[in-house]
Amino acid sequence: MNMPSDCLFCRIIAGEFGAEFVAKNDYAVAFRDINPQAPVHLLVVPRQHVSGFRDIGQLEDGALNGMLDLAVNAATALGIDRGGYRLVTNDGPEAGQTVFHLHWHLLGGAKLNGALA
Ligand code: AMP
Ligand code: ZN
Repeated sequence: MNMPSDCLFCRIIAGEFGAEFVAKNDYAVAFRDINPQAPVHLLVVPRQHVSGFRDIGQLEDGALNGMLDLAVNAATALGIDRGGYRLVTNDGPEAGQTVFHLHWHLLGGAKLNGALA
């Protein structure tokens, strides 16, 4: 599996910074965003490096379902499923993507801003 040594999220997944995974499975991990935009703000990140949503077709078999499962399970484990939550991904600079390893933001724990853009 191609894991660029200069990719922050590949390094986090490899355990380089001792990040705590609040949920994980064979295909993906979830950890807290360092700059939370909601009381609960997790990043759901595939173990396989692909640069963003546009490259989702490059994910190995099972990885996309693994990410979806993990998002649902993490939301339930942290209790944000009761009030509801938002799952969002930024693809490319104009959407605000800053880390070019696919990730989904899972946000909840309060009434969220209604504006999506
Ligand atoms: P995006 O801007 O959509 O690419 O999202 C990247 C996210 O990664 C931002 O919300 C950052 O706050 C978050 N982030 C950057 N560095 C770290 C880190 N070391 N640990 C956790 N989250 C991070
Ligand atoms: Zn990566």
